[in-house]
Amino acid sequence: MSEEKKTEELIEETTASSTEHDTDEYEKVCCICHRPESKTGKMIELMPNMCICPDCMQKSFDSMSKMDANTYQELMEMSKRFPNMQMINVSDLTNQVPQRQKVKKKSKAPALDLKSVPAPHKIKEKLDEYVIGQEYAKKVISVAVYNHYKRVATGTMDDIEIEKSNMLMIGPTGSGKTYLVKTLARLLDVPLAIADATSLTEAGYIGDDIESVVSKLLAAAGNDVQKAEQGIIFIDEIDKIAKKKNTNQRDVSGESVQQGMLKLLEGSEVEVPVGSNSKNAMVPLETVNTRNILFICGGAFPGLEDIIKERLTKQSSMGFQADLKDKYNDDPNLLEKVTIEDIRSFGMIPEFIGRLPIIFTLKGLDKDMLVKILKEPKNAILKQYQKLLALDEVKLEFEDGALEAIAEKALERKTGARALRAIIEEIMLDIMYEIPKDDNIGKVTITREYVEHKGGPKITLRGDMVIYG
Ligand code: ADP
Repeated sequence: MSEEKKTEELIEETTASSTEHDTDEYEKVCCICHRPESKTGKMIELMPNMCICPDCMQKSFDSMSKMDANTYQELMEMSKRFPNMQMINVSDLTNQVPQRQKVKKKSKAPALDLKSVPAPHKIKEKLDEYVIGQEYAKKVISVAVYNHYKRVATGTMDDIEIEKSNMLMIGPTGSGKTYLVKTLARLLDVPLAIADATSLTEAGYIGDDIESVVSKLLAAAGNDVQKAEQGIIFIDEIDKIAKKKNTNQRDVSGESVQQGMLKLLEGSEVEVPVGSNSKNAMVPLETVNTRNILFICGGAFPGLEDIIKERLTKQSSMGFQADLKDKYNDDPNLLEKVTIEDIRSFGMIPEFIGRLPIIFTLKGLDKDMLVKILKEPKNAILKQYQKLLALDEVKLEFEDGALEAIAEKALERKTGARALRAIIEEIMLDIMYEIPKDDNIGKVTITREYVEHKGGPKITLRGDMVIYG
């Protein structure tokens, strides 16, 4: 029997045995060339979790058949002399193969349906349930997301192509940038990857490759390429990749990262490793098209206000209508006056800004907003503690003064709403520890004095007797 016929037979045999795994929602990947089954054709399963594609199999047989007769004879002789000798121990190889050397099959789910994308006012309504204030930001993001998914659902428009609505979000730390995007992704039910620009470097340098953000999204989509291609990537701390000033060295984590991101933002095909952050021989690769991925970049841009102030003062300090020099010093809405020119002066390159056509700002949170954040959102932190104590049949209440005191403390820390949780946890520790000890306690009221460490909480026993702790 000719060598080729033998190969064919073997292929048939092994494919027959592998059909039982076909219902698996993951795709097999060749352990030699790392291409998935959808590209190579039916895989041959050598061992569980180890497959080889017909091309690579054929190549192996070809190279064997090219072996000259003498060498073949010698090998056969040798194997007769050493019956226990194995040329390759295949089971050793399997130890090196990752358990899940498979990628998800292209899902057959139809592309996004335009009807399933909620209208902007519906998106904003949902956001309102979770995100306090930031009305302008919520409005902009709702419209941008709606337009983006309209563009995705319709594919390329006939002759008028809708541009991608990538966004740049500017706002102080703890003002809800990440929270806004997370809430958005959850209510749209699309995969979301959150990456930190500080860890990104130009390929080849220590740090994460720029493409690793796409690999994160693929993981968030359960390795489903089609789902990932409609997801959202949020890149936080984008201000940290501003061009370094006064440097003669290569700017591998600044300008180069911005350059490297241009193609991703615009839409290109990237080969990303599945289930890993770095490409190496053992990890299968998948091609992801970033054309329909929505990129949202966010950052606090410290120092940007000074740049805006400088520009405004320069503009208004000339002529008859010259303003006072310190007019903008205490302007709380200074950030809203940002222009592309200011962001450029900050250190972002024009090509980069050009690929983020929607720029909007978030406000720093004031005391009233912080109080609202404590009690109003659907999953407000107070509601969470109230639920926890309700399980012990204890009612938890906060006096208005107590909420204000917590907000004042949070303002001092200058980390926005992020400080709230830490403060509440500090306050609630003793309560959560002491309350379950006494079954008679029916209600706990947190007072301003307790928050300021000047007194205790108000404890009400089940018979309505009030004790001050
Ligand atoms: P950043 O702007 O630095 O990304 P985050 O979005 O991470 O801030 O905010 C930290 C936390 O503060 C969030 O997890 C959320 O619970 C809370 N938070 C911040 N802003 C708001 C807001 N406007 N409404 C409700 N909660 C908020």
